[in-house]
Parts: sequence; structure tokens; C-alpha cells
Amino acid sequence: MRGLAKVARNEGAMQLIDRPHPTPAENEVLVEVKHAGLCGSDAGIYKFKSAFERMNLPTVIGHEYAGRVVERGANVSGYSIGDHVVERPIRPCGDCYQCQIGEENICQNTALTGIDHDGAYEKYIAVPEDVLHPVPNDVHLNHAAIAEPAAIAVRAVAKNSRVEPGDRVLVEGPGPIGLLTAQIADAQGGDVVVSGVGRDANYRLPLARKLGFEIINAGDDDLESVRRDKTDGAGYDVIFDTTGHPSGLTTAVEEVRKGGQIVLVGQTGEVTMAYTPLVRSEIDIQCTYGALYDDFERAFRMIQSGDVDAETFIDNRFSLLDAEEAFEAFLSSETAKPVFDISEL
Ligand SMILES: [Zn+2]
Ligand SMILES: [Zn+2]
Repeated sequence: MRGLAKVARNEGAMQLIDRPHPTPAENEVLVEVKHAGLCGSDAGIYKFKSAFERMNLPTVIGHEYAGRVVERGANVSGYSIGDHVVERPIRPCGDCYQCQIGEENICQNTALTGIDHDGAYEKYIAVPEDVLHPVPNDVHLNHAAIAEPAAIAVRAVAKNSRVEPGDRVLVEGPGPIGLLTAQIADAQGGDVVVSGVGRDANYRLPLARKLGFEIINAGDDDLESVRRDKTDGAGYDVIFDTTGHPSGLTTAVEEVRKGGQIVLVGQTGEVTMAYTPLVRSEIDIQCTYGALYDDFERAFRMIQSGDVDAETFIDNRFSLLDAEEAFEAFLSSETAKPVFDISEL
């Protein structure tokens, strides 16, 4: 069985390697992977940013996927052969305090699929039953492959933001998480603007427009004048920073209204800023990370209803047989959510 693996500790270094066909343990099912997406963190592994130094190499990457149950371990009771499933790829330990109180997304001892153990850019993956989530019958597996990032966006908006109907919302960053967050904030009643920078002008901002959003290109447009027009100068009620860039937070502080909220979704690195103005303006800074079972459940319902427009959002142009093309396109913002057909491997 072939899988696309990170093979060396430098940029690029992705190779199709041979892996043994996995056998499910007694609490695991064997999933035949059908479709798998490319995520910002996969691109981080491609570049080999510092967050991924802990990886043992080679490791097959990929954690956003949908597939079919083809074999069951002896103790598996919840799934049958043929069932369609996705994985919650932040695998919790089940024992720590956060796991005990139902906060598995921030478990103290997580293992991440496609980072800490082999992921989904290969035909078969053995997965513990308790991190699987059933895919509704009428959701195509190509669309189900975005359930995981959609669940992250659901958690950001529905659980961790206070977006209410009529709120003026700015989503910074038209990448995959930004565009999903925008769709969910819109469904929650927000009046959503999506901002990007120069390199987003070719693909990501036009996609944001296609998905129905007003867009700002911070390279060309004057953020301040857009804010004046949109919000009578007051600033946005809620801003989601999905940029993964330090300027996302400092820009958000300028654009949010007094008493407003900034939700940090992207992992931004380091930034130095004065925080007295935040205190004096009673800015609420809220973090959000990963997703729980109910976030996945909601994500599927929103894919079913069309509130999340999977068909428009997903980019099926790329192949894992030429993965470098997909990674380079992703890193230069020429795509937002490539989803691969794993049967090609
Ligand atoms: Zn992801
Ligand atoms: Zn735990």
C-alpha cells in the first residue's frame, strides 16, 4: 500500500512510500479512505515549520478524510462494514482532567493523526472506534472530507463567538478555515466581510465572493474606509483571525469596535503589542481550537443544508500523484481546499 509521507526534516521532502496493510486492533475499524483534504497544517509539515519537529519520520500525513468501514476489530460495536465515516483527528487520551470533563479537543496528551501517527494520504487507516463520526447517507464522501475543518469553524462561531443576527463580522484570511468560518458566521446571522492580502486576489478572494461575501483586499483597499462605510466608523462587532500571521491580531485590534470580540482561530506565532487599549476598550479576546463530537454533528447538518457550500468550496483539481503541485499551489494561495481522490494511490 502506498502513502504520501514526510520523509526528511526540510522543506518539501514528501514521497510516496510503501506501508504494510494495517490490521485493526480489537477496538479499531479499518477505514478505506476515499477522499482526503489538504489543510494548513499539512502545508506546515511540507515547509517543516517548528511545530512539527516532534514528528518521527517517515510519517504518512493527512487528517481530513472520509471513507468506508471495511473491517472491524473484535470489540467494535458501533460501526458496520460499509458505513461511511470521518475521524476526529485530535485523538484524546481519555484519562486526563480535560477528557474527564468533556473537553477532549484540549486533552493534555493528544495524538494527532497524520502527525503523531500515520494519516490518511493512503488507502487504508486503522482508527479507534471512539474517534470516528458517522457520515449522513446523503452527504457525498468528497464533501464529507471537509467535515473536520467545518467542525473547527462551527466551534469557532457557534461555541466560541458571540455573533448574533445583524452583527458586523470581519473574517481575516480567506483560507480554508476563514471561508468556512465566514459561511457559518453568515448562517448564524452575521453580516460578513472577508479580508485577504495581495496574493489572495487570484483564487481565494474570488472564491469568497462566489460564496456570497463582500471582500476586502488589504493590499489594495483601505481597511479604514471600508470600516467607516460598513460600520459607521464604530468597528466590527466580531472579528475572526484565521490568518496564521501576527498582523492578523494587530489588525483586528484596530478594526474591532469598543466592546467587541476577537476570536483567534489561526495559530499566529508571536506578536508584540500594547494591550492597554484593549483593556480600555473592553475587547474580548477568545481562543478556539479543534472540535468536539457535537461540532462535527452540526458541521454535517450545515453541509446537508447548504449553509456550508461544499461543492463550491472544494477544489478537486489536484492529485496525490503530483502532491508538490498541490502544496505549492496551497502555499501561494492559488487554492483553498484541495481534496484528493485517494483511490488514485
Ligand atoms: Zn486540518
Ligand atoms: Zn486527555
